Amino acid sequence: MSDLPPVGNIFPGDGTRSAMSAPTEGSCQTGRVYLDHGSTTPCDPAVVALMGRVAEHEFANPSSAHRSGQRASGIVEEAREAVAKAICALPEEIIFTSGATESNNLAILGVAAAAEELGERRRQLVTIGIEHSSVLEPLKHLSERGFELTFVPVHDDGVIDLNALASLLGDKTLLLSIQAANNELGTIQPLAATAEIARKRGALVHCDAAQAFGKIPFDVEAASLDLVSISSHKCYGPKGAGALWVNGTPTQTPIAPIQFGGGQERTMRPGTHNTPAIAGFGRAAQIALERLDTDVAEISALRDRFEEIMHELVDGIVFNGARKHRLPGASSITFNGVDADAIITRVPDLDLSTASACQSGTQNPSHVLRAVGLSAQRAYSTLRVFFGRESTLSSIELSARQLANAVSSIRRDQELVHQ
Ligand code: PMP
Repeated sequence: MSDLPPVGNIFPGDGTRSAMSAPTEGSCQTGRVYLDHGSTTPCDPAVVALMGRVAEHEFANPSSAHRSGQRASGIVEEAREAVAKAICALPEEIIFTSGATESNNLAILGVAAAAEELGERRRQLVTIGIEHSSVLEPLKHLSERGFELTFVPVHDDGVIDLNALASLLGDKTLLLSIQAANNELGTIQPLAATAEIARKRGALVHCDAAQAFGKIPFDVEAASLDLVSISSHKCYGPKGAGALWVNGTPTQTPIAPIQFGGGQERTMRPGTHNTPAIAGFGRAAQIALERLDTDVAEISALRDRFEEIMHELVDGIVFNGARKHRLPGASSITFNGVDADAIITRVPDLDLSTASACQSGTQNPSHVLRAVGLSAQRAYSTLRVFFGRESTLSSIELSARQLANAVSSIRRDQELVHQ
């Protein structure tokens, strides 16, 4: 049926470098510079190649008992191992989903469903105001159905206030949901310290690690978490694939399914496996692990250089979020008195966003920026710039100059209007 290597060799264990280790000019199309790695990342060429081969040859249903089905199933299991390894977990604890949105929904709604089934008296759900909508919305949904929702404040740098957390959690807390890293600020949360406080109260801890997975070291055991959501397309894998890690057995982490059908993913997530996407996700996880140290060093050096140039060239700018505890590629910049959308229209060759792609189209200022104390006006003056693997020194220098020119020309125009 296939000219693929035997299952077991789909994911090379020989440290083969992905083609992305030889960066292009930081562009996703000729002449364009992609600066939106917080929204999504380009698929690694090695991932694309594997997905193409799997889609072409391994079309059998992984749940089928025949040999072709079992080959496909072998590919899914290899990917599960690669994903588990990348977060220091066991393969049998990984539930494949369609992405972090689904994983977040399954974690939050599934824990609440299990609590109701078990007659649990704990009814408090706790989170922070800078979470992604795929965490906030299921929590709000539950709060409309009798659960109590509590927001723990964050400091101005986006880091959770641990003293407030300690005082707000109690023996009624069922679940704390905390992100690993923020999708607009890049701020990294102190997960182990946060989880320790929650655990002392007997609460479960869910972590949305969509932004952190594959970008910074991530160890579910060391952070003492119960549930972790991850996404493939934030770490150079395909869209439409992700996972929820659930610690240990259902007694250890009581969670009930929220969708029903076939029993494909430990009865927790029904539906025929998307073998090519899962294979691509596994390969992306493997590559991310192999090149993590290099990526962290190279991408943060580029981000720092970008911020240095911006600082030199543009007056009246503020960098938001924690300086040190930040994703390597993340930079959130407020330009005093300048509308961020106006900047974007003057740099047509740069792919840039103001806030989360999941929020764009709304007229509201970013809830993340508002939660860290920015006025609505300052939130509208803020750009998020996220660098990634294909970013290069020349592309970031060019981007910084183009941005600086755009801001100066807008300010000049504003002065003319006010004269
Ligand atoms: N959480 C965070 C922090 C995110 O940045 C995103 C993607 N914007 C998601 C969850 C949703 O991930 P997915 O696109 O895989 O559903």
